[in-house]
Amino acid sequence: MRLTGKKAFVTAAGQGIGRAIALAYAREGAAVTATDVDGAKVADIGGTALDVTDKAALQSAVRAAAPDILVNCAGVVHAGSVLEATDDDLDFAFALNVRAQFHSMQAALPGMVERGGGAIVNIASVCSSLLSAPNRFVYGTTKASVIAMTKSVAKDFVTQGIRANAICPGTVDSPSLHERLRATGDYDAALSAFIARQPMGRIGTPEEIAALAVYLGSEESGFTTGQAHIIDGGWANG
Ligand code: NAD
Repeated sequence: MRLTGKKAFVTAAGQGIGRAIALAYAREGAAVTATDVDGAKVADIGGTALDVTDKAALQSAVRAAAPDILVNCAGVVHAGSVLEATDDDLDFAFALNVRAQFHSMQAALPGMVERGGGAIVNIASVCSSLLSAPNRFVYGTTKASVIAMTKSVAKDFVTQGIRANAICPGTVDSPSLHERLRATGDYDAALSAFIARQPMGRIGTPEEIAALAVYLGSEESGFTTGQAHIIDGGWANG
């Protein structure tokens, strides 16, 4: 098992990519602290309720867990162009997608430095600085920031045994994806449009993203840091 003896902390582990990562990490031997704003969603995997926008709660939970691997997964998708985005939309998305990752890294890093190593895995998106998708102005702006934060942390802590990488998924089958498809008013047409932009002709699975998260959390990726890892069924390949 690739994560035996490691302690991992995962946010938004209640469903979708976060849950798949928490389960994969446990299968690989890690002791996982699984958290989600909805505690009921992580109860069956021994998790606890945690709202990552609550800075004090987030930082004290991260410090208590003293993780070797920190996975920042919580995120929200805002739908709309620049003209449909409000200040509140931008503030909320930055609080959840960016500031929470900033706060959890701040809490995790001193312990990682003390112990001489650690791995940070931040969930960004291929929709970021890498490519844009229609009606993802707020979302792409925040996910570009995730990549920039990840690179900065990787740069500053590279000599201290700490690696930081971002995962940039394309469209992945998760509960919130289905909500977004329903919200368009024509679920089937929206799903077809999402699939049509996938060169592989399908969307991804949370387990496929989790497999990359296992690699980036483990020593197998010991020579990899500061990168935005695209996993998108060929979408960004044009
Ligand atoms: P999801 O959106 O279906 O589930 C998100 C989970 O986050 C839920 O369990 C929810 O309760 C939890 N959550 C919401 N607000 C929270 C908060 N304040 N604190 C803690 N937890 C909170 O899951 P998903 O679609 O797999 O998305 C997970 C991450 O992956 C997000 O950062 C998302 O932007 C990113 N991502 C998803 C896709 C996709 O197509 N699904 C693609 C690229 C990136």
